[in-house]
Amino acid sequence: RQELYRELRSKPSISRDGIHIDLLMNAGLAVDLPQLAEAGASGIGLFRTELQFMVASTFPRAEAQERLYRDVLDAAQGKPVTFRTIDIGGDKVLPYFKGSVHEENPALGWRAIRLTLDRPGLLRAQVRALLKAAGGRELKLMLPMVTELGEIAQARELIEREVRHLSRFAHHLPTSLKLGAMLEVPSLLWQIDELMQTVDFVSVGSNDLFQFVMATDRGNTQLSDRFDPLSVPFLRVLKHIADAGHRNHTPVTLCGELAGKPISAMALVGLGYRSISMSPASIGPVKAMLAELPVVELTAFLHDNMSGPTVGLPMRALLQTFADDR
Ligand code: PEP
Ligand code: MG
Repeated sequence: RQELYRELRSKPSISRDGIHIDLLMNAGLAVDLPQLAEAGASGIGLFRTELQFMVASTFPRAEAQERLYRDVLDAAQGKPVTFRTIDIGGDKVLPYFKGSVHEENPALGWRAIRLTLDRPGLLRAQVRALLKAAGGRELKLMLPMVTELGEIAQARELIEREVRHLSRFAHHLPTSLKLGAMLEVPSLLWQIDELMQTVDFVSVGSNDLFQFVMATDRGNTQLSDRFDPLSVPFLRVLKHIADAGHRNHTPVTLCGELAGKPISAMALVGLGYRSISMSPASIGPVKAMLAELPVVELTAFLHDNMSGPTVGLPMRALLQTFADDR
């Protein structure tokens, strides 16, 4: 198997029936960067910038942030990189950050974009570091835990102010700036066309989206096998998002753990996803799965099975049988 993955590394990721699927990797620290070439990823679909904050004992200085972002872009050698603004709060606490209060439900609490819009100094410093690091190159930025479209407008205003500030001081600006949102809070599902028209791209955070749709703590081992992301209700949610992306011509990626397991990656492709981001170790197995996959046939199979009654429908087993029979 390892031999096969190595062989596939330099090959494009194409299904058996010729459909191209973009396989990106998730990263968060400088040590992850060599994986980009080793795994054969076509870019970084999720760079978790909060990791630099979590391994530090005090807020990383602006220069240190800028250095890391520049190293990431240098290592990517022109491959696309999507930086997520700091996703702290919730279970990701910074011991040196004194602003937080005790929360009864931290997953639903003061975290991610909520926190950084309330502490704009943090976000401003990060955005400035990113803009400087990406001078002369493309910059893709995405916002975590967006709940209302107004949060995107607020962040965009802050970003534009930083762009104006840097250009006033004759800084080398990014050649293009793309702003995306993570879709991980269900409220966005009911404003999805407007969302797609508001941003340059959307990335589904299926870990949090599943947690919130199923009201199931993502870290609770007692519940980890209880509900299945490959059950019809959640697959319908994922399809709703993929369809909205196509309808609005807005690129959609999925960057949660689902993308990294061959069986669920297969389901995602069948639902219409053409770009997924995963841990580097998953790229080989997912690429190998894709090479055997008849996507058109799978799409019809999923459509048929998701249209009828769902009670007791063993969707995961059906998908497994589909995979085994091909
Ligand atoms: C997610 O929620 O699926 C995601 C990719 O972000 P994180 O796991 O960092 O919350
Ligand atoms: Mg998340």
